[in-house]
Amino acid sequence: MTLNLHNTLTGKDQNFKSEAPNIVKLYTCGPTVYDYLHVGNWFGYIAWDILVRVLLADEYEVERVLNITDVGHLVSDADDGQDKLEKGAKKEGKTAWDIAEFYTQDFLKGIELLGLIKPQHVVKATDYIPQQLELVRTLKDKGYTYQIDDGIYFDTSKFPTYADFAHLDLKALQAGARVEFNPKKRNHSDFALWKFTPENEKRDMQWETPDDIAEGKPMGFPGWHLECSTMAMSILGQTLDIHTGGIDHIPVHHTNEIAQSEAATGKIFSNFWLHNNHLKVDGTKISKSLGNGYTLNDLAEKGFSPNDYRMFALQTHYRSEGNFSFENLAGAKNRLHNWINIAAMRHQTHDTLRDDDDKCTDDRSVSLYAAAQAVLAALNDDLNTPAALAIIDDAFSQLTHARLDDIHQHAFVQLLETIDELLGLQLIKNSPDVSDDIKMLIIKRQQAREHQDWQTSDNLRKEIEKSGITVRDTAHGPIWEYLA
Ligand code: AMP
Ligand code: ZN
Repeated sequence: MTLNLHNTLTGKDQNFKSEAPNIVKLYTCGPTVYDYLHVGNWFGYIAWDILVRVLLADEYEVERVLNITDVGHLVSDADDGQDKLEKGAKKEGKTAWDIAEFYTQDFLKGIELLGLIKPQHVVKATDYIPQQLELVRTLKDKGYTYQIDDGIYFDTSKFPTYADFAHLDLKALQAGARVEFNPKKRNHSDFALWKFTPENEKRDMQWETPDDIAEGKPMGFPGWHLECSTMAMSILGQTLDIHTGGIDHIPVHHTNEIAQSEAATGKIFSNFWLHNNHLKVDGTKISKSLGNGYTLNDLAEKGFSPNDYRMFALQTHYRSEGNFSFENLAGAKNRLHNWINIAAMRHQTHDTLRDDDDKCTDDRSVSLYAAAQAVLAALNDDLNTPAALAIIDDAFSQLTHARLDDIHQHAFVQLLETIDELLGLQLIKNSPDVSDDIKMLIIKRQQAREHQDWQTSDNLRKEIEKSGITVRDTAHGPIWEYLA
């Protein structure tokens, strides 16, 4: 199937094509591990999980790097202020290494809880220091760098297409620049490749600066942008097929990644750039001071599972601004619960006198097969998850009204498998069959109803509900469901 993606690099929707046939080299900017991830961060990682799932369904092999930023991400984009990790460590009375390890483990746990496909390469910036210094060396040898008192900088005026990716108006930016942190920078947009440990500061994370890079400045640490370029190119090669991240990364982080990578190699750094929009919370920006950066733990405390959140995230297209509220999340939870109950109907279509083959010509089986195809087509259209969910709603609503005997078992299970594969909602895993004892009780209750013995029928319902199962009586007989 043709995959259509909105490419930030060209500003257009384009048919995706990988450099090497059937292999996709994909890089995703990972989190800065100085705190728990919030729902906004996870919104992006869920979008990129769908991208991977669609690529796999389109029969690509996906080689993917997801980095962990455990050093060098400063509190301001202007290479100014403290390192987020060092600052976090001081606040918690720990070392930056402890902080990084703790929040990295929490991030990895979140990946599992949300059922995100884990990339083959989950790599830490601190494990790639020699490679980062090598990239600085290459840029220095090619004349792109200069040294000032606090670090080695990339001279953006030497990279003529610097402003193109984010359509920056560099003159206006320069004119509008507030008092600069370091007036020794040649251009406002220049950025640090390698920073020196300030003389009066004790850093937990620092490395020797080799003499050929900067004489007499022995200790330092990498800039955040350098880390991503290095890890991407060290593992995936000089040109990536797709690079992903949040929209906030376009004007600085990704612009800088492109400048330094392409200056070093003379090759295009990534053919496709995908950016997720931001999620707001109750209509406002997520910020620490507002305390609205809800984590997966916060959601669990209010009775919402990671899968409920996944469903919530899929309801918004990754390029649209999302709005999180507990009310919206409750809506998503409810939708997922209904879907799981529909999935459980597959256990109830067995007792049929006709086998599947007799039902092949049935319109409903055809529409179930078509729905699976339509879901894949929607996702191939720039990961249109809201459209995919609407198709599933339609298909499922037909099933709710169908006679169980009429449902084409194979087409139904195939649709569920497709949904799980593409959207990762784990409908099959979360809809196990009921025990034989419960099945017996359901039959007995049905017999009581046929004899109009309402008292027994009521008692049996209560008995069944003790196991978290309820019975919905339809014109075609009872259907069991999970209690909400
Ligand atoms: P950070 O840890 O700050 O580097 O962020 C990790 C990822 O989350 C980056 O790709 C950001 O662009 C993204 N991100 C940050 N805030 C939000 C938000 N409110 N909504 C969606 N993505 C976000
Ligand atoms: Zn990055």
